[in-house]
Order: sequence, then C-alpha cells, then structure tokens
Amino acid sequence: MNYIVFDLEWNQPEDGLKTEDRVLPFEIIEIGAVKLNEELDAVSEFNMLIKPQVYHSINWRIRKMLELKPGELEKGTPFPEAAGKFLEWCGEDHVFCTWGSQDLTELQRNMNYHGLPDLSDKPIRYMNVQKMYGVMNGIPSQTKALESAVDALGIEKDVPFHRAYSDAYYTAKILKLIPEEIRRKYKAYDVYHLPKNRKTQIKLKEGEKQIVISTAYPTKEALMDDGIFTALNCVKCSGKAVKQKIRWHSFNQRVYDAAGKCKEHGYLASRIKIKHSDAGDVYGEKATRYITEEEFLEMRKSLTKHKD
Ligand SMILES: [Zn+2]
Repeated sequence: MNYIVFDLEWNQPEDGLKTEDRVLPFEIIEIGAVKLNEELDAVSEFNMLIKPQVYHSINWRIRKMLELKPGELEKGTPFPEAAGKFLEWCGEDHVFCTWGSQDLTELQRNMNYHGLPDLSDKPIRYMNVQKMYGVMNGIPSQTKALESAVDALGIEKDVPFHRAYSDAYYTAKILKLIPEEIRRKYKAYDVYHLPKNRKTQIKLKEGEKQIVISTAYPTKEALMDDGIFTALNCVKCSGKAVKQKIRWHSFNQRVYDAAGKCKEHGYLASRIKIKHSDAGDVYGEKATRYITEEEFLEMRKSLTKHKD
C-alpha cells in the first residue's frame, strides 16, 4: 500500500457571495503530491497547474501567495484531464494523507462539478497529518499551520512554501516523524458522502472522547428525533446508553447539548453539531466526553438561567 500525500491550491472569487451560494466554492488551480512507500519514503511526485474554467480572475492574495506569473495558469491543464492523470498516478492501493481536513472534500467537489465519476460513494478514510501532529503534541484540537510544524520539528526548508507540491512535500516529511502508534490509531474520514445508514455511521475515539458522525436525515428535527443517534453512550461501558440527566437543548439551533450519568463511570456530556451535506441532507457530529460533577451542575444552571 502507498501513501498519497497531496495538497491543493484553489481560487476563491471576490464576488461578495457566500461560499455556499457559489456554483463551486473553491476552484482547484494546482495539485501537488508525493507518493510514499510502506516505509514512508518518497517514491514518486506529482505536480500540475490547472487552467481555470470557472473563475478566470484570480484572487490577488492567492496570486501573490503562489507567486504566479501573468498567464501562467492559462497554460495549465484543464481540471478533468489533471484529475484523471492524478488519480492514475495514485494507483489502486493507497491511502490519502493531507494537512487538515479540507482537501479531499474540495477534490471531490471539483470532480462532481466537472461531472467526473465519484472517488467513492461512501466516506473515505484518510490520514489527517495536521490532526496527528496535534495528537503528538498532546493537543488533538490544535490546528497548526504547516510551516510552524516544520519549524517546530526542525525540518530543513529546502523547498519554498505555499505551492501545492511543496506543502505535500513537507506534510510527507512530518508524517514520517509521527509515531507509528498515532498513525495507526488516529483515523479520519472525509464525509463528502455520508454513511449510508445508521449501522455504518462513523465512530472515532480520541482518548476518552468519542465522536460519532451520523448518516443523512432530511431535517434537523428528524436527526434530533432519532433516539439511537441522540442516546448518551458511555465509551467505557462499550457504548452502553446511560440515563439522561439533562435533556437535549440548544441556544443557537446549530449545537445541541445533553448530559447523563453512568452508574459506574460518572457524568458524561454529549454535544451534537448540526451539519449540512452538499447533497442537501442534514447530519450530526456527536462528541461525548466525561465531565466532573461541577461541570454537570454548571450545565444544569446555565439551562435554568436561560429558561428565565
Ligand atoms: Zn460506563
């Protein structure tokens, strides 16, 4: 199996529109990648500039960051051809690795826009090197910029930053420095295509914290009505549902909270973030963690305060 470490550069027009109101939120203008063998050594590289077909005016910040010469992009390869070459270069047996969680989604969005076949009809398991780097530092929620990680790890900066290839190159160097245990344990899933049903919903563990990504629902109400998805589960009891002590509530209709108590393992709190898929479905990301009695009482107090 190979590791495909890739990075995309994309253009975002300055049209004053909201990202979700555009036909394509971000148009990919460059793909860079490094293929690694099982030992995480580079065996091949991929680098391609893409001729814009949707947004012809390149945002000046992006032009400056990429140090593009006038007309350089117009000489690039059209996206369908570039994506085809990239996937052919990737080969069959591989796992994608990226810095952060956005690249695999944007790749699939651009492919969909151009009418190319889907990479998969299900969530895609990949390696989020940025996340693994945070775990390695003991702060899983940390999202460090690539260059600051390169500096902190003392990696030689022998290629200029902020091009797709260079960012893939450095991400690959960092991946090689991540301990094997973290590489194996910290799974990530791209959910451009959601889990097909409740049985295949995604469960991730981060220490004692558990994250569940639901399947698709037509509405937020349908999601919050699903007693199985909204159950409070004790990870230490292999996910057994525990008694709810504070009912699901929300102050902003995007994030819902609830808390319960396991007889054996104490108080736990769950938070559901309501999300929307490109296909127009609603899904939820539920995170459950253990809390202290003080935190539990605080949550109850804030709920009663809100009611008044
Ligand atoms: Zn328990």
